[in-house]
Amino acid sequence: MTQADPAANPDEQTPEQRAEARRYNHISLACTLVDMSIDLVYLGLMAFVFARPLDAWLARFAPLAADQSMLRMIALFCIVMIGHMLVSLPLSFYSHYVVEHQFGLSNQSLARWVRNWSLSNVLTIVLGGLLNLGLFWIIWHTGAYWWLIAAAAFFVVSVVLGQLAPVLIVPLFYKVEPIDNAELDARLKELAKGTGLTIEGVYRLGLSADTQKANAMLAGLGSTRRVLMGDTLLEKFTPDEIDVIFAHELGHHVHKHIPKMIATGVLTSLAGFYLIDRVIVWWAGISTAAAAPVASLPLVMFTLTAFSLLLSPLQNAISRFYERQSDRYALARTSNPSAYRSAFWKLARLNKADTEPHPLEVIMLHSHPPISERLAMAD
Ligand SMILES: [Zn+2]
Repeated sequence: MTQADPAANPDEQTPEQRAEARRYNHISLACTLVDMSIDLVYLGLMAFVFARPLDAWLARFAPLAADQSMLRMIALFCIVMIGHMLVSLPLSFYSHYVVEHQFGLSNQSLARWVRNWSLSNVLTIVLGGLLNLGLFWIIWHTGAYWWLIAAAAFFVVSVVLGQLAPVLIVPLFYKVEPIDNAELDARLKELAKGTGLTIEGVYRLGLSADTQKANAMLAGLGSTRRVLMGDTLLEKFTPDEIDVIFAHELGHHVHKHIPKMIATGVLTSLAGFYLIDRVIVWWAGISTAAAAPVASLPLVMFTLTAFSLLLSPLQNAISRFYERQSDRYALARTSNPSAYRSAFWKLARLNKADTEPHPLEVIMLHSHPPISERLAMAD
């Protein structure tokens, strides 16, 4: 059976489907690049042009007037975030609603899109606001080595959020329920045997309310560790293919990818916070970051955004390495290369994936290896 012959594998993309997937991915790529540019330009303008005048204007209101006022910081943060929300709204709507519908990938009603967009923005503003307040409290009150303390705090926040995300945040957007299929339960239980992942931890994720795309993921830490299998995947994949996807998620669990990601996150946050220390001192013309003015908040947001964009090729390379490890694990665990192949062809077809994207795009932006590379692993 050769991979290039669609007749041999009914799940393989036809030439027309392949061309359509390419078009879809080109548009998505353009949207991603424009979105990144909007973020950088907007935050850059806020940091270097508008921060001081905005801060001076806010300081005219008596309750916000104090030198390092937390209240003024909250006000400034809300203005920057709401501005960002409005500036990025047209592209958000185009890329997540219009394009997805154009390519027949979305099941989302306009009302549901608006609800999810509003909810994710509220969450970002509330969570982001708390994190920024905490960060500035540490900068102001913990001395010259504040960036060490901030990295330790970042670790604690990552662990707490890692634990809470699958039980508190994911259910806000998707219906999460235990898998109610006894036969599937038994199969997955058999696969999970000896890996330390209990079958209580496998859930059905209601993706079909929003999308045709199939997906699965491993989420959570400790007692909240679980595998979330999209209902789209459970309905459209054969039991053997579901085994392969589930075994891939098991691979992430067995290779301890989540704790490893938290560890690299702490290392990069250490570098990021130290960079912020230097940038604040330079920008404000002060000798220590403890004297940072409220107006340096947009600069901190800009620096963190630029820094994470710069680091993303490295982070993506690590992620692709983890994905390959999990793919190898799935192949070894299931010993069923033909189910592995058809699962990935099905994923490519349902998600309209470009199976052979440009290598530069992969290096810069992709957290997963191209499907062609993942398929080759089965040979
Ligand atoms: Zn994976």
